[in-house]
Amino acid sequence: MPKHLTTLAGESVAFTGRAWRPRFELQRIVRRTGGTTTPRGDVTADTTVLVRGACATWKYGDYGRKERRAASLVRRGHSVAVVHDFEFRRLLEERRPARVCDRIAGQPVQWLVGATTRQFQKVAAIGGPLDREHSAIGRVEQGFLRHRLFGEVEEASCSLCGRRLPISLLVAAHIKPRSECSRRERLDAEHVVFSLCLLGCDALYERGLVGVRPGGEICLSEAHDSSILRRLLRSYQRRKCSAWKDATAEYFGWHLMRRFQG
Ligand SMILES: [Zn+2]
Repeated sequence: MPKHLTTLAGESVAFTGRAWRPRFELQRIVRRTGGTTTPRGDVTADTTVLVRGACATWKYGDYGRKERRAASLVRRGHSVAVVHDFEFRRLLEERRPARVCDRIAGQPVQWLVGATTRQFQKVAAIGGPLDREHSAIGRVEQGFLRHRLFGEVEEASCSLCGRRLPISLLVAAHIKPRSECSRRERLDAEHVVFSLCLLGCDALYERGLVGVRPGGEICLSEAHDSSILRRLLRSYQRRKCSAWKDATAEYFGWHLMRRFQG
């Protein structure tokens, strides 16, 4: 995905939200400068650029249906550059490059694009912890792992709390901490990660406040006095972790022995 949009020649441009000029005027300019548009500014399989204006009532918090459709196209291998309207204006009126957003529908573009097995293997060779979202190599690894874990679905379940959520709120989290994994384990994309939500489970597991016993039963730490935390942890009582199985048991076992604060 290019970082900048420098010309509209050959681009198929869609619009979402309200821009600084009426949509029909912008569409006319796009067509005059060599691009194409669709009647209502819709995102289609041919769309290559989505111009994002403002909207007080986005369907999904800070983006709408069209951007969600763009995200799904990108996940399936299309190239769609999302550009803010003020950047697009720079291109149209000042002929300066418009910066392409590095997130689509709430997720880093690299999480959506995914990575090839080769790219993944290269990154998995690097030891230590990796920031999944804010480091370039971390995004490559996460991109690959999430494609394996979530495929093309829009929603999936957290393996600990069981809540069904948009995948932008889920991560492919290492069952055994990445920094403790051998190279072989980091490459074990099929088993070394599980789906965790960013609404608490990721942090609680990473900090060792919840663990998973052999068989999948979730166990809760009593290491802290905080009554709020205790109440929160109680919501996991008697739950089972859906990702526990023979092939992942060893990774959960490591976490339980060495990270879980019993
Ligand atoms: Zn959760």
